[in-house]
Amino acid sequence: MTINSTPYDVAIIGAGIVGCAMARRFTLEGARVVLLEKATDILDGASKANSAILHTGFDAPVGSIEVGCIQAGHEEYRRIYRDFGLTLDECGANVVAWSEEEVAKLEQIQQQAVDNNVMDTRLITGDDLRKVEPNLSDRALAAIAIPRESLIDPWSSPYAYLQQSLMNGGEVMLSCEVTGGRFDGSGWKLETTQGLVRANHVVNCAGLYGDLVNSSVFGQAPFTITPRKGQFVVYDKAASRLARSVILPVPTARTKGIVLFRTVFGNLAVGPTAEDQQSRTDSSIDTETLRSLMAAGEAIVPALKGMPVTATYAGLRPATEFKDYQISADAANNWITVGGIRSTGLSGALGIAQYVYGLYRDTGADHTALTDPVIPTARVLTDTANRDWKEKDHGEIVCHCELVTRREIEAALSGPLAAKSLAGLKRQTRVTMGRCQGFFCSARLAELTEGRFVIPMAEGVDK
Ligand SMILES: Cc1cc2nc3c(=O)[nH]c(=O)nc-3n(C[C@H](O)[C@H](O)[C@H](O)COP(=O)(O)OP(=O)(O)OC[C@H]3O[C@@H](n4cnc5c(N)ncnc54)[C@H](O)[C@@H]3O)c2cc1C
Repeated sequence: MTINSTPYDVAIIGAGIVGCAMARRFTLEGARVVLLEKATDILDGASKANSAILHTGFDAPVGSIEVGCIQAGHEEYRRIYRDFGLTLDECGANVVAWSEEEVAKLEQIQQQAVDNNVMDTRLITGDDLRKVEPNLSDRALAAIAIPRESLIDPWSSPYAYLQQSLMNGGEVMLSCEVTGGRFDGSGWKLETTQGLVRANHVVNCAGLYGDLVNSSVFGQAPFTITPRKGQFVVYDKAASRLARSVILPVPTARTKGIVLFRTVFGNLAVGPTAEDQQSRTDSSIDTETLRSLMAAGEAIVPALKGMPVTATYAGLRPATEFKDYQISADAANNWITVGGIRSTGLSGALGIAQYVYGLYRDTGADHTALTDPVIPTARVLTDTANRDWKEKDHGEIVCHCELVTRREIEAALSGPLAAKSLAGLKRQTRVTMGRCQGFFCSARLAELTEGRFVIPMAEGVDK
């Protein structure tokens, strides 16, 4: 069965952060776009669990595609977030040295920031650091302050990117897995679980499955994904006052290390770990690792000891054998691969989309950009936002920990991006993500979502 008779200009595979930003960019540039996602909800892969830091790229490899995309993405986010009603918590970060050996590395890190054109960092002493971070352990010897490292909402932003695509003519197909495809010299017939989809060009943004998608059509892939798990501990909202900025360690060649950060939802988190594994789906957590994360957090901020833990979670990074993003255009086959968007994709997404549109244009394809695109109003779920529960006529509050109203839940259960799973509903509303983790509201939620989820709540709880 062929679903569309007129081919799309571009089919994008994968509705993670990158695919959502990609759909927005190509739509704004005037292309006819379809986004194909195998899961029932968007943001179901690597993008469902990260640290939500909008990076400056100060520590990215100099001259890499990654640093260019992070910085272009950061800049575009700053340009659009007010119009969309998105969040930007400009809390800054401090890279803290805990030993003389690490102190010796700070100058090198600062030089790397300068080489990456991040000019506003400054070296500070441990005493000065404790003036701005009074709860930090007195073992902190010195730090580099990076003022523009920020925190954002990791889900409302990609939702808003995709919403802007949809409001301006883009399309999305959920529960639509790409299983193969053929290029006939001018366009693609993609085989999907919903039939054939025709498109002149394809952009593969399949994240943790990027290599497998390329293999399914070309028989090989230019890289292999080895998922890198990151576990987190999330402390109760009372802990968020214990840190003002993002507390980063001196990074190693392999990982940015264990970070202590506030979230825009008012919690404080410690993580992530960096554990290579073969499974592309196993985001389980283990008690021993969580204990070591709690110990690491308490070593950074001693007052964390005894603070209640609200939640734990893990995310999987789409790591490859290469350090840089794996973005390449196969002009002869009208195919662009966007792979290995490992640990900075939230920051880089808008920049990656700009970069990829440039590669697409270089193949000779072009469109007339929209002159007056519709701008969506994002659903913002932070403590400081104009949430529905603050309205006089808010009606029933379903989740009392995160103050989610029935109206907010019903809105998230409707429209082209309607939540089809509890996980999707959490990302759109924060239900069950507070102190009680759904203990009090799950029964009511099961009633409200009856007939709406692919797997009803009564049959299984997804994460
Ligand atoms: C622990 C952790 C911490 C992080 N912290 C940060 C941070 O603080 N700041 C930051 O900027 N970044 C951070 N990141 C990185 C960021 O989350 C990732 O770079 C980003 O989520 C990658 O997005 P993606 O769209 O490339 O992949 P994904 O989110 O995996 O999206 C790919 C999509 O493709 C779909 N798909 C796969 N195969 C098919 C198919 N055959 N057909 C159709 N659809 C398909 C999947 O279902 C999925 O939805 C972190 C990541 C982790 C795991």
